[in-house]
Amino acid sequence: MPDIAANLAGIKNHMAAACHRADRGTASLELIAVSKTFSADDVRTAMEAGQQVFGESRLQEAESKIDLLPASLHWHFIGRVQRNKVRKILPRFEIIHAIDSLRLAVYTDEIARELGLFPKVFLQVNIGSEQTKGGFEPDALRAEIEALLALGRLEVMGLMCIPPAGKTAEDSRQWFAALRNLRDELQLATGVSLPALSMGMSDDFEIAIEEGATHVRVGSSIFGERSYRVDGELA
Ligand SMILES: *Cc1c(COP(=O)(O)O)cnc(C)c1O
Repeated sequence: MPDIAANLAGIKNHMAAACHRADRGTASLELIAVSKTFSADDVRTAMEAGQQVFGESRLQEAESKIDLLPASLHWHFIGRVQRNKVRKILPRFEIIHAIDSLRLAVYTDEIARELGLFPKVFLQVNIGSEQTKGGFEPDALRAEIEALLALGRLEVMGLMCIPPAGKTAEDSRQWFAALRNLRDELQLATGVSLPALSMGMSDDFEIAIEEGATHVRVGSSIFGERSYRVDGELA
């Protein structure tokens, strides 16, 4: 059995050390404990160790956990968003990390208006232009950013990516830097602040922090290895 409390403490130490190396404070950094495939009891254990923010990538699985746990917890939806799930995702999750097309953004904005909500979202970028991954191609995002920012209900916090798999954590650095540079470019072009970067997972979150991540999404280093795959993209 993984020691969830000890793992969390270890991650927090590594996060603080990475912030120190990057000469930045820890206040601008959020750890999202990715609990997909793990039980409500595991989430509770993490909660008792002080963790309040959790990430899930499948609605049904998340709903069953959320219902068993205190309402004080904060839930982020980190998986691919299916249109027919938007109406249920919006009221349950504080932040959606993977808005991956203008069409989905327009639809999400519409449903948010119906529901009277102002959801916080990240725009997912296919930063390595991989066939197998979702997200905006960088050029598409350049072309569509004005339209995205004009959607009155969505609070676009910034960009999110899942970089191409590398051999070592260092291999992710170029992609994290590319996401930050794209964010900087879009800010300059639009005059709108995009303060957040959701990047970094168990294997490379320290590198992501050094490159400016504000939200790291860490699962297996906290909860242990997952025993089954959740979606086509990530185990
Ligand atoms: C599963 C998942 C994570 C966490 O991955 P780990 O390698 O277990 O830390 C992060 N982000 C997304 C989008 C995921 O699907």
